Amino acid sequence: MVEAVSCEALTMQDRGERPAEALEAAVLVAADLVAGAASVTVLTGAGISTDSGIPDFRGPEGVWTKNPEAEKASDIRYFMADSGVRRARWEVLAHGGMWDGVEPNEGHRALRPLEVGGRLHTLVTQNVDGLHVLAGTDPALVVEVHGTVRRAMCLGCDWRADIDVVLDRVRAGDLDPHCDACGGLLKSATVSFGQGLFEGDMERSLAAARECDVLLAVGSTLGVYPVALMVPEAVDNGAAVVVVNGSPTEMDHLATVNVRGSISEVLPRIVGRPQHVVDESRPTW
Ligand SMILES: [Zn+2]
Repeated sequence: MVEAVSCEALTMQDRGERPAEALEAAVLVAADLVAGAASVTVLTGAGISTDSGIPDFRGPEGVWTKNPEAEKASDIRYFMADSGVRRARWEVLAHGGMWDGVEPNEGHRALRPLEVGGRLHTLVTQNVDGLHVLAGTDPALVVEVHGTVRRAMCLGCDWRADIDVVLDRVRAGDLDPHCDACGGLLKSATVSFGQGLFEGDMERSLAAARECDVLLAVGSTLGVYPVALMVPEAVDNGAAVVVVNGSPTEMDHLATVNVRGSISEVLPRIVGRPQHVVDESRPTW
């Protein structure tokens, strides 16, 4: 376990130092914590995908803020009750180009070195864009707690498939597709409002928070539960918490260090250092 460090960076701005200096100091503290950890659990939210052009849903200029009707498609009750809502949703997915050409950015790629030497315990993401796996992170290490738009599911049985299987049907004129196996409603494999998390995902995420040396929370406001509980879970079990986000989060008070800057700029610096091995018995040549 990593000892919590007292962080100068947290108070630098209070002492009148320039934000750029405070950011620099916070990056160094964070990089040191990550380099000294044998096991790192990562939690990511929407902020890591902003530089990939993923639309913001809830902000002032968000998709749902400007068009509340669009949010209905993400509420399981409307989706199940109204074929018009389902048709509109499939229409957007099949023809709207919402996810076409969306590529991982430097932030997603920055996390890859953690896998060297098996230091990445688990990467938990609140994002449904599938970009961590596209960036090359081992899918076995990724928990997509809110599901993924890259897969389709049946609401009536265990049928699952790549989303393209269903999108091809929609493009061929099957505008409200149902399951061939059971007749149930098909949906992207995302967790909609009113829909429970997928079985086992939250347990696995909390275990990853308990078992790591450092919890690295990136691009999440840490205000969506239950996934935000990973932070107190990590703290209670002696892990250091590094929060990287462009704006304040609801868990800043629990962080060992808060790094407030551009994710795609600071994350490569925080994660890029090789692990420093503390082994005094090793001979020096
Ligand atoms: Zn089915």
